[in-house]
Amino acid sequence: KTSLVFSSDRVTWYRPTSLDDLVTLKATYPDARLVIGNTEVGLEMKLKNQHYPVIIAVTNIPELLSVERTLAGVQIGASTTLTTLKEVLQELVNTEPEHKTRVYVAILEMLRWFAGKQIRNVASIAGNIMTASPISDLNPLLLSAQCQLTVTSKERGQRTIVMDDQFFYGYRKTLVKPDEILISVLIPFTRQNEFFCGYKQAHRREDDIAIVNAGMRVVLTEGDNVIEELALSFGGMSPHTVMATATVKGLLGRKWDDDLVPEACDLLGKELALPPGVPGGMESYRNTLSLSFFFKFYLTVQMKSN
Ligand code: FAD
Repeated sequence: KTSLVFSSDRVTWYRPTSLDDLVTLKATYPDARLVIGNTEVGLEMKLKNQHYPVIIAVTNIPELLSVERTLAGVQIGASTTLTTLKEVLQELVNTEPEHKTRVYVAILEMLRWFAGKQIRNVASIAGNIMTASPISDLNPLLLSAQCQLTVTSKERGQRTIVMDDQFFYGYRKTLVKPDEILISVLIPFTRQNEFFCGYKQAHRREDDIAIVNAGMRVVLTEGDNVIEELALSFGGMSPHTVMATATVKGLLGRKWDDDLVPEACDLLGKELALPPGVPGGMESYRNTLSLSFFFKFYLTVQMKSN
């Protein structure tokens, strides 16, 4: 495919076909809006009256479309649509050992409830991460899975960013700099003694945005089920996707048994507590949902690890 440019007196729209051209364009027009499925940018323009004089469609860059299985997991090009992501993950779930694909199973389940088919056919993984919505359905899963992002810019070149508790640090704010382009997302494999689940509660089961959602991962020691690693990420509980780091700190080294539940709920309740009048409302329902998700996770892991 050839690169394209369309322009009017209000907007210039570029569609480059190489990463070099994209990096140069983004450096030339630092305020240019990158666009893939346009399911977020389009709404900003139509409903929020945003005007972007320069738009760069990043749908035809080979590096942003490539999908590669590596030793650590699967490297997904940033422009991969959610429909393609589903196909890729399903193939891995069908062909890899069960214990390696537990994050992929959770993402597949979440994608069932993510928007409708028309949106999933064009919306991308990068668009979801970079919008950094507090109720993004993928971000709690990607955070708990410790995904790695590869980004690039003219000024700093290529670098890797781990999606950890620092990654989302404010409303629609991420550690990716405004001049950086997301190239790919590495979604890691899980290990034998590692368990992963995702949860979403919405008003409607299908095609609805979350009230609260979550991604949870735990690594237990072989035999005695002591918590070695734990990651608990939530959407809908803060202005950004948030990790319950204080709760995790309090639970590391503990045994995965029934005594864990009241302590975890107490810690989580304190750490995530929504004050009365918080945007979005339904404070006590959202508080309860976050604890219920942990309880479900506890039971699932308890069954699988014994
Ligand atoms: P775009 O609109 O193309 O871009 C979004 C943002 O990402 C922009 O800021 C853009 O500049 C930036 N960006 C894109 N590519 C790059 C890149 N390579 N590097 C750096 N920045 C980049 N979301 C959910 O989580 N769950 C839902 O259930 C859900 N349902 C929806 C239903 C409807 C009807 C609609 C309209 C939206 C819904 N969304 C939902 C939101 C949206 O579809 C997702 O966030 C989607 O993943 C966005 O992808 P996109 O490719 O369309 O993003």
